[in-house]
Amino acid sequence: MSDDQSLRLDRFMAAANSAYYANKDPFSDFITAPEISQMFGELIAAWVIVVMRSMDYQERITLIEAGPGCGTLMADILRVMRKAAPDLYARCAVLLVETSPRLREIQKQALADYGSLSIQWLDLIENIPKTPIVFLANEFLDALPIRQFVHVEQDKWAEHYVYHHDVMQKPIEQLPKAPAFKRPIPIGGIVEVCEAGQQVVQYIAQSVCHHGGAALFIDYGYTTAVWGDSLQAIAGKQKVSPFVNAGEADLTAHIDFGALKEIAADVGAAVYGIQTQGEFLRQLGLILRANSLAARTTKEQRQEIYDAVYRLSDPKEMGELFKVMAVCHPKLSVPPAFELKKETIL
Ligand code: SAH
Repeated sequence: MSDDQSLRLDRFMAAANSAYYANKDPFSDFITAPEISQMFGELIAAWVIVVMRSMDYQERITLIEAGPGCGTLMADILRVMRKAAPDLYARCAVLLVETSPRLREIQKQALADYGSLSIQWLDLIENIPKTPIVFLANEFLDALPIRQFVHVEQDKWAEHYVYHHDVMQKPIEQLPKAPAFKRPIPIGGIVEVCEAGQQVVQYIAQSVCHHGGAALFIDYGYTTAVWGDSLQAIAGKQKVSPFVNAGEADLTAHIDFGALKEIAADVGAAVYGIQTQGEFLRQLGLILRANSLAARTTKEQRQEIYDAVYRLSDPKEMGELFKVMAVCHPKLSVPPAFELKKETIL
């Protein structure tokens, strides 16, 4: 805390989320794609297999997931890989980037069936090994702390701080370097910058460029030069104030995919997308997978399968708000589900 007890928004958000993920069961407050249906992880597994085959690399590949939550996505991926691509499965070393000791325990249990593989946990993405990687992050970036800047008047900016359960503005002389400030921002407009997220994408882009591989970022966010306050807090499935009862609610912000794309491309990586989650999953065969699962189940289970298809891919649900971006070594072939359109700007 600074002397006057106000806390810069990103520091407040980092502390609040660290307490939240350390102590609460996030999945009683919100549900993520891998928890909705096994189909999500199975289709990502197909993506991983095709990408690993195209890497043309015979040694160990590090399969990394950042922010694995309950470990469901990784468990679904490993189940498919073991069955459909046992040669690749045997060459994988699994790394989970997770700061919450509580969630690490849950992940350990979820992956208990894959004990023959090397599975390790890390706190920091910067500590990943210098090997070819396939890196996955689903709803990870949105939990990282953001700064908010207000365009007060011509050449005059302020920054948001949290003070006594509310936000306050403090004037700021020097704006940080971020792609968002290259856009025209009207007076009164708010710009969000997620420095931690930008560093993650930059680091992973450098890693795939130097050592090979690919990364897939899935999250809710925007691709256009929108501005505004997207910070939200969810507790008990309800929206609550982000500034009251810190640590009791999940704080998230929308992802500025345009900025992340620019950062990864500046490093020299090949960037694909930004694709909508609905289009991405459909191109990977969501409907075929649903039909195949449904053919072997009861009527009730069939309904659940098609409800999940709807939730994951319909524009009114997660299909359009959620976006997918792939960051690859420049010599890697175009990854699955990005072939049709190199770029989708919504
Ligand atoms: N990917 C999961 C969980 C999303 S919730 C899913 O789709 O279900 C966000 C996850 O990121 C949690 O596992 C949380 O503990 C982790 N996390 C949040 N901030 C982090 C940080 N700075 N470093 C590493 N992990 C973090």
